[in-house]
Amino acid sequence: MQRRNTNQRKIIYEIVKSTNIHPTADWIYERARFYISNISLGTVYRNLKILKEEGFIIEINDGKQSRFDARTDRHYHFKCVKCDAIYDIDLDIIQINMDLKRLSKKGFKVVDVNIDIEGICPKCAKGDRLEKNN
Ligand SMILES: [Zn+2]
Ligand SMILES: [Zn+2]
Repeated sequence: MQRRNTNQRKIIYEIVKSTNIHPTADWIYERARFYISNISLGTVYRNLKILKEEGFIIEINDGKQSRFDARTDRHYHFKCVKCDAIYDIDLDIIQINMDLKRLSKKGFKVVDVNIDIEGICPKCAKGDRLEKNN
């Protein structure tokens, strides 16, 4: 029983790791069924939760649903409002000046900062231009 669970979790982790699209649980479930035919969506959710707790993946919310990311180093996310794609943005691309010292003076202890960027991705922007040209 224990070994089966570990094996399922490994497969789910590999699926998340195999893509950079920041998949939803449904997307992961569809792929997982290919390897484990009788797996349930609940099992996928449970394993994603454990993987998250163990620090293997991170969970992000795109405003509608949870998405998962096997890239766990610090990075920002750019969400395209047109196609819902989520892109990884390296920290050094975006320089944000935050006066966290002022927060700590007010008694707030910062443990994490999340920045989510929304906009139109290069692919969709290109499509926009093509439409205008026609
Ligand atoms: Zn897009
Ligand atoms: Zn990411």
